Amino acid sequence: MKILKAMLGLTAAAAVSLLAGAVSAQTYPERTITMVVPFAAGGPTDTVARLVAESMSKDLGQQIVVENVGGAGGTLGAGRVASADPDGYTILLHHIGMATSATLYRKLAYDTLGAFDYVGLVTEVPMTIVARKDFEPTDLKGLIDYVKANKDKVTVANAGIGAASHLCGMMFMSAIQTPLTTVPYKGTGPAMTDLLGGQVDVMCDQTTNTTKQIQGGTIKAYAVTSPKRLDVMKDIPTAVEAGLPGFEVGIWHGIYTPKGTPAAINERLSKSLQVALKDPNVGARFAELGTTPSSDADATPAALKAKLESEIARWKPVIEAAGEYAD
Ligand code: ASP
Repeated sequence: MKILKAMLGLTAAAAVSLLAGAVSAQTYPERTITMVVPFAAGGPTDTVARLVAESMSKDLGQQIVVENVGGAGGTLGAGRVASADPDGYTILLHHIGMATSATLYRKLAYDTLGAFDYVGLVTEVPMTIVARKDFEPTDLKGLIDYVKANKDKVTVANAGIGAASHLCGMMFMSAIQTPLTTVPYKGTGPAMTDLLGGQVDVMCDQTTNTTKQIQGGTIKAYAVTSPKRLDVMKDIPTAVEAGLPGFEVGIWHGIYTPKGTPAAINERLSKSLQVALKDPNVGARFAELGTTPSSDADATPAALKAKLESEIARWKPVIEAAGEYAD
């Protein structure tokens, strides 16, 4: 201790905490880890989290338990992790909303770039523009004409301001210059239940949540937001092909820890994430759901940090131009 103190010129307390961090990082994890998903159970973020958590648990030798903290477009769950102890036992799996909410919210309970450390990128997944099964329009052009003519009637489900479904819906309304009534849910899991029940008309959501329903014919699909058609739904055109120029959006997920988490713990989680993303069971499920696992190089703290920073910069002007904010 004396040597550590002298070497680093630290106070006794700082040296103790540094030592404690080093020791706990070596033996980490020693108990159950909570992975906060900032959306309701049953939705696409939850599906990604549960698949990855199960496989990471095996690699880490400790359970990762998923806790759904939905609400306010993912910002409640992110806030919960921002204020958790930086010990590696509370982690966050969030998507692109981590970047967009930094601009969409005039006030957030946390500083997006200051409150977190990084584990790595998890997946990349496109969105689909879908509707309840018996919704009248049969293709994207028909949908655009229909919603323009019925703008006071049509309802669009989303998972709150900051969610990917909100971003995609906002881009759609802005592209066709027609504001529509939005219905916010705590996640697109419950939103899908209402779409299936016919209580809401339209939604834009990740293929992780929509592929099985589209294949089963229980909802109607108009377009995918990827640059190319997807193998799992070859007959669904891209939004660009179907008449929305430039309408491309890819959703990415990342795993974060509270700021101050020892680097060795973030690295351990990153290595475990890389193992999970190469797990054939995880890969097969993701493939079925049109969801692409990140490469080893992307499932790293540095890659996620760079992605978050570049995505905040990328979406800021788009959101500012749309002029839609939450207070
Ligand atoms: N992915 C959904 C969204 O961003 C939320 C969820 O995962 O439930 O809208």
